[in-house]
Amino acid sequence: MTDHVSQPRLLLRRLHSVMASGGKAQDKLDRVVRVIAQNMVAEVCSIYLSRAGGILELFATEGLKEEAVHQTRLRVGEGLVGLVAERGLPLNLSEAPQHPRFVYRAETGEDIYHSFLGVPVLRAGKVTGVLVVQNVTPRKYRPEEVEALQTISMVLAELVTSGELVDQEELAEDATDIGEPVRLDGMVMASGVGAGIAIFHQPQVKITKTVADDVDEERVRLEDALGAMRLQLEEMIQHPDLAHGGEHREVLETYRMFAYDQGWQDKMHAAVQSGLTAEAAVNKIQQENRARMAKIPDPYIRERIADFDDLATRLIRIIQGDESNYRTQLTEDSVLIARNVGPAELMDYDQQYLKAIVLEEGSVTAHVTIIARAMGIPVIGRVSDLLTHVQTGEHIIVDASSAHVYVRPTEDVIESYRSNLEIQEQLFAEYAAERELPAETLDGERIDLFMNAGLLVDLPSLDNTGACGIGLFRTEFQFMVSPALPKVDEQTKIYKAALDAAGDKPVVFRTLDIGGDKQVPFLPRDEEENPAMGWRAIRIALDRPALLRFQLRALLYAAAGKTLHVMFPMIAEVAELRRCKAILNKEILRLKKFDKEPPVDVKVGCMLEVPSLSWQLDILLQEIDFLSIGTNDLMQFFFACDRSSPRLADRYDLLAPPVLAFLHMIVQSCHEANVPVTLCGEMGGRPIDAMALIALGLKRLSVSPTSVGPVKRMIRSVHMGQLRDFMLSNIKSPEHSIRDSLTHFAKDHGIKV
Ligand code: PEP
Ligand code: MG
Repeated sequence: MTDHVSQPRLLLRRLHSVMASGGKAQDKLDRVVRVIAQNMVAEVCSIYLSRAGGILELFATEGLKEEAVHQTRLRVGEGLVGLVAERGLPLNLSEAPQHPRFVYRAETGEDIYHSFLGVPVLRAGKVTGVLVVQNVTPRKYRPEEVEALQTISMVLAELVTSGELVDQEELAEDATDIGEPVRLDGMVMASGVGAGIAIFHQPQVKITKTVADDVDEERVRLEDALGAMRLQLEEMIQHPDLAHGGEHREVLETYRMFAYDQGWQDKMHAAVQSGLTAEAAVNKIQQENRARMAKIPDPYIRERIADFDDLATRLIRIIQGDESNYRTQLTEDSVLIARNVGPAELMDYDQQYLKAIVLEEGSVTAHVTIIARAMGIPVIGRVSDLLTHVQTGEHIIVDASSAHVYVRPTEDVIESYRSNLEIQEQLFAEYAAERELPAETLDGERIDLFMNAGLLVDLPSLDNTGACGIGLFRTEFQFMVSPALPKVDEQTKIYKAALDAAGDKPVVFRTLDIGGDKQVPFLPRDEEENPAMGWRAIRIALDRPALLRFQLRALLYAAAGKTLHVMFPMIAEVAELRRCKAILNKEILRLKKFDKEPPVDVKVGCMLEVPSLSWQLDILLQEIDFLSIGTNDLMQFFFACDRSSPRLADRYDLLAPPVLAFLHMIVQSCHEANVPVTLCGEMGGRPIDAMALIALGLKRLSVSPTSVGPVKRMIRSVHMGQLRDFMLSNIKSPEHSIRDSLTHFAKDHGIKV
């Protein structure tokens, strides 16, 4: 490669003048490939653009046979060009024909070219084409050459999306079912229901100028914009809605940290240096970041893509001076549609009208989800092909209890949504009115209903539901949303906030249950075949005792002068529990040594989630103050049935006789040993399942906040004596499940399930 290319600025200028020269788009493209080939001393330069249906079509070439233009078409994933599009990353080969994915198309005559460099043409994170250079001589292209081609492709992306080459609708791809009512399914990220017109989150800003006139000036524009953006973030952090602190504020603070990331700034400056305008430089680096981060298996890193997208868009807007309409004004009930949304961007929307969010990506622990939950906005995520099924202004109903999104709903869906909403509102009002009533059966048996929590935003539910306390505080949630290991004092603050919010009610803190599907960003890990049965929870804690020690220390500090309930997860044998207790006792002694106020009492419990422990109940129950049955895990091990596998979701029923007999045995042992036992798995939150559980003798259930009302209602309509007789006669049934007969029983006896 010659000096020309080590001066990408020169090449950019030439491209710029081609693009500014007028004429048909196709002619410009033909000239563009010629200029690139000349400047990069390549025998071939070709541009493939995406067409509907995942097809890449050769749009222009210098060097390949002319008759191939608009004839050669490859599917995404097919051949080397398809591979670049599939991965969204450059491909640099000195011997292209030897690559296993090489496909020869006779009409192109490309078999004589050995070296191949292909880069994706990216636009808003989507591959809209592939730019290729080829040479006869086998050679590997140098990193600066790859970099130069990427810069060019970014300039090209603007030409492509200008709509002059492929019309925009086609680029939007497969918009086939527009017009028809569609139901899309996803995953519930934040519960609730909401409806409104679709509004597209617009992270894509239009970049009108890509090539710099004056590099120094662009550098100043970039610097100024960075400063302005940081100022905006500071203001956002002071937003009155976040004034009370909590993890959503921490999220924004982490996010602010990204805004100061040196690596990110350096790369943008280098792009400006290569001749791009400030906005084009930000965009180029963001496209690259996105492509790179999307390939990283770590879900935490992938979730941060949205944070960076958000920052980049914000920055571009500032550079282009279109901050005026930054705060998106909504005038009617709206549903936000996006691939993903950054946490700060969400706060730019008018909360009064924002009724729901639907995302193509997203996850339960994504920062945006946490903020949305704090704002009480339902979120459904992981909706495939969302953006191709919805158009701005269309009516959308989001039902985040069933994870359904209704686009252009039919009249009967709207009607049923309306009545569901009314029923739901009415039910909520009734549950709220019943919050002070005891969960007591018709024949006077009292059940204690606790709630599960994990984030500070869950705490107000304690009062709203009238739960007896927090039966399971999943401490790991806090760790999952934190980029670094929370320090002792940070942890203390959180635990103290939970205890303060609970007042006289108990809070059962479960020590870290990380690993499995709950990955934390700061703990390196190996891929495991069976993560649920792998290095997780107490296994990590005992192998990394400092982690557990610090957590116990924070819990002890937080509970000074109060009763601390602490519970260990995934205990498989009594010996494991003893090791945990030894660490706890050391920490209690340490309090004395440092003259710290201790809790008035420390109650120690453990989760029963691993079946092996149930064969040691006699010893175990002498060593603990309480037991909590975690049926979510316990049942997956009991049936050898992965709890996260959709194929197995309905395979076994939790109201199967062997489950009931097993739980009955555990509950009886606890009663005999006089040790309180709670069930804290999801099962306890479903009224019909809860009915079976109380009949087995469970007197304490810990359920999600939204389940407290319905379960209490069931309890208050049941006659325990009759129910118990019925259950005990069914526990030995040979059936797959007693669910149907229990449902009939409920109907016949007027039980509200
Ligand atoms: C359980 O396994 O039942 C439980 C409550 O723990 P988690 O769902 O957090 O694994
Ligand atoms: Mg569990």
